[in-house]
Amino acid sequence: MTEESVHTTNFIRNIIDNDLQNNKNNGKVATRFPPEPNGYLHIGHAKSICINFGLAKEYQGTCNLRFDDTNPAKEDIEYVESIQNDIKWLGFEWSNLHFASDYFDKLYDYAVQLVKSGKAYVDSLSADQIREYRGTLKEAGKNSPDRDRSIEENLDLFERMKNGEFDEGTYIVRAKIDMSSPNINMRDPAIYRIKKAHHHRTDYKWSIYPMYDYAHGVSDAIEGITHSICTLEFEDHRPLYYWFLEQLNITTPPQQIEFAKLKLDYTVMSKRTLLKLVQEKYVSGWDDPRMLTIAGLRRRGYTPESIRNLIEITGVSKSNGVVEFGQLEYCIREDLNKKVNRIMGILKPLKVVITNYPEGKTEEVDIDNNPEDETAGKRMLSFSKTIYIEQDDFTETPPKGYFRLAPGIEVRLKQAYYIKLENIIRDENGIIEELHCTYDPESKGGTADGRKIKGTIQWVSEQHAINAEVRLYSSLFSKSNPDAEENYQDALNPDSLIVLKDCKLEASMKNAEKGKGYQFIRNGYFCLDQDSSENNLVFNRTVTLKDSWAKEKSKSR
Ligand code: ATP
Ligand code: MG
Repeated sequence: MTEESVHTTNFIRNIIDNDLQNNKNNGKVATRFPPEPNGYLHIGHAKSICINFGLAKEYQGTCNLRFDDTNPAKEDIEYVESIQNDIKWLGFEWSNLHFASDYFDKLYDYAVQLVKSGKAYVDSLSADQIREYRGTLKEAGKNSPDRDRSIEENLDLFERMKNGEFDEGTYIVRAKIDMSSPNINMRDPAIYRIKKAHHHRTDYKWSIYPMYDYAHGVSDAIEGITHSICTLEFEDHRPLYYWFLEQLNITTPPQQIEFAKLKLDYTVMSKRTLLKLVQEKYVSGWDDPRMLTIAGLRRRGYTPESIRNLIEITGVSKSNGVVEFGQLEYCIREDLNKKVNRIMGILKPLKVVITNYPEGKTEEVDIDNNPEDETAGKRMLSFSKTIYIEQDDFTETPPKGYFRLAPGIEVRLKQAYYIKLENIIRDENGIIEELHCTYDPESKGGTADGRKIKGTIQWVSEQHAINAEVRLYSSLFSKSNPDAEENYQDALNPDSLIVLKDCKLEASMKNAEKGKGYQFIRNGYFCLDQDSSENNLVFNRTVTLKDSWAKEKSKSR
């Protein structure tokens, strides 16, 4: 948690500090996180979670989890469960768990109250007509012919809407505010609509469902929320938020505060697009490791600390900006570098036979589990006559400044010996099958006389190695702002997943644990994937060791 103690203040903290000084809300801080259960949470939601739960923690207040389940057609219990799971995984606990549907009776009663006081009416205009009557930014709207319907008639129609007597789209209930308001949200917005759908909690009990703006503010008030924190697109809805609470005589309304959404380049954040990626099978599911859902990031090997840290370092503000993907990668590298063991893993193996090493001999060499962590200890690795190195660590034609294995260049096998190329063995097509090298027995541990050996490469002993499949990921999108494309498919990166089937790992990786990270020396950070089984180990690359992003970006420009 050390990185999180680098605590910067922000405008929301300032508002709360000020409220506390004035003993507003009797010094209480009550926030909530209100997701709609119509998809999995993504890294943008993590920002809202960190802000809402984080403030409650900081100010010894409360933060509720409230599912905004007012739109039954798109909602599902799978989402309700995944959202709870993801919030806990991110390291937060809710004070109370609520569903907007718990308030359906109250919300209905309040709406009846609005109708009775002449503040709401039942309208029979069609959706198209309502749009037409609404006017534009430049032009005032027109009153609906139903606006002056009598209270008795409104009450009767509303009740019958509730009883399921009418078809969808025939009537809606609207707030009676001001059709010429410069703020279009105030031009008699809808409060209730008819919807004949199954609801995952209330079943078929309701034929009418409250609209978001109405349900949201009233739910906040019912729960005694003090600071209702939302994203900037609701700024224009703020007068409406307060209007409802005023009509209902709620004397200490929650304060609505808006902040700018988190936006990352090379990413889409809208649940609609994420759902399409899943449904149209561009990814394997909501938890595909390329998805910037919390479930995808977890499967990819991201830690809660790295995500919380990204949110902290990118700050909270009122101006929309774009965070570079590289910052997210920076956060996970920082975290894993401190925590995880270094292991020998060869992604694209090239066999090397050390001809002067005794046949049948095995030696143990030691290696630090994590040189960044003194307490991590050491472990032993087996070395023998035949080993694998990376294909990329050998070339027949070394360019200037090349320090890995090549004709005439001696190289250090990490923690083991120096080796030198003697012979290249090829098949009948001229493809390299294996290399024959000799080693210097005096160089054990990777040091010998004064020879300057610049290159150090990783290796695994053939007879001790285990096989694994490794999945290498890059961004799902090759365009920095996929939302700007007419069609998100046009922005997809065709090479976002590369599967390597014949990787060779040191023997200790037999016991690799799910949920734990590993650094494959020089190759990046990896974690065991859920597809893994005893006979088919599968690893995901979480991130490379160095920032390859700058390069990627210049390519795609
Ligand atoms: P959609 O992606 O379908 O537009 P949504 O992101 O608004 O939906 P909700 O379930 O309504 O999804 O979001 C829950 C909360 O998370 C809301 O308060 C919303 O403002 C916040 N939120 C959503 N996206 C972001 C984001 N990119 N950055 C910060 N907060 C976000
Ligand atoms: Mg929303």
